[in-house]
Amino acid sequence: MSHSQQRTSDDGGRRGALVISLDFELHWGVYDHCPADSPYRANLLGARRAIPRLLDLFEEFGVAATWATVGFLFAESRDELLQFAPERRPSYRNEALNPYAAEIGHSEADDPLHFAPSLIAEIRRRPFQEIGCHTFAHYYCLESGGGIGAFRADIESAVRLARRRDVHLTSLVFPRNQITAEALAVLPSLGFKAYRGGEQGWMYNVRPGSRNRLHRRVGRFLDQYGASISRLVDWEELDDDSKLSNVRGSLFLRPFLPSQPALNAFRFSRIARCMRQAAATGRLFHLWWHPHNFGSNTELNLAELRRLLMVFAECRNRFGFRSISMAGAASAAHGGPHPLETAFSSTMAGVPSLT
Ligand SMILES: [Zn+2]
Repeated sequence: MSHSQQRTSDDGGRRGALVISLDFELHWGVYDHCPADSPYRANLLGARRAIPRLLDLFEEFGVAATWATVGFLFAESRDELLQFAPERRPSYRNEALNPYAAEIGHSEADDPLHFAPSLIAEIRRRPFQEIGCHTFAHYYCLESGGGIGAFRADIESAVRLARRRDVHLTSLVFPRNQITAEALAVLPSLGFKAYRGGEQGWMYNVRPGSRNRLHRRVGRFLDQYGASISRLVDWEELDDDSKLSNVRGSLFLRPFLPSQPALNAFRFSRIARCMRQAAATGRLFHLWWHPHNFGSNTELNLAELRRLLMVFAECRNRFGFRSISMAGAASAAHGGPHPLETAFSSTMAGVPSLT
């Protein structure tokens, strides 16, 4: 069947689907360039308030998401964090990247930027939500001074601490999308089945640190609001050479800009168009962002996301478009069940039933 033809629910496991992943990291995602007392602190604390609201919205629309969580955030205390920290650690040439040098408190109670077990528990209480992995210590695979041995040790720590909470990690998002074949090769033996590959286009060719040059950043910015490259993922693309499912990212959901209504309108129409195309042609559209992107202008960001989820609901009704996590996509790609597939739309107010 060509992609110009419409696929319907008769296509079974490979119908079009929306995948959402969130890189859940709090300060561990920005510690190298934003001190804990920088102005961005407000966004990081705002992320903590935004997460339950995001979960409410996902629950209302029956939407699944993968929360790729930094392993440190699982720790109940500094002692537990250190107990699970690997002996073999990266020694990045850029010392600002050393996460083990960060000053942290005793626990979530006195340090809400570096610990988040209560939020992880809240995510797990909600339907269709997957806890994924964003490495143990926000590991940078392309920075010099890392090394594959330290990467493996880092992931082993993440797996062990998650298991202590009865969470089995199977989906991984690489920090700053720094992906190497060497790193991918160690993941299957540690229980992983899926990762989020980088977005397509020259502007997304990731370089370590400062080598992310201005023209790439400008290219990314323009791309987020333009309409040049196909953002949709064919099911066949999930199988690459890595023995994992590559649930490639389609688009980063940029934060809402209150002073830029035209850009917001472009962004909305682009994402809506991608979802409708994915639904009509039986492909995947994978939207990702960080909870701290909703940490300021939270209400505006949530309102915009609600509008996007209404487009999702429209596509679900019309084409049988689905919402699946990264784990659900990996499973469906191989003909498996959809453990996190949405199935209760008919019970929800304002979201008409598919069947
Ligand atoms: Zn990150």
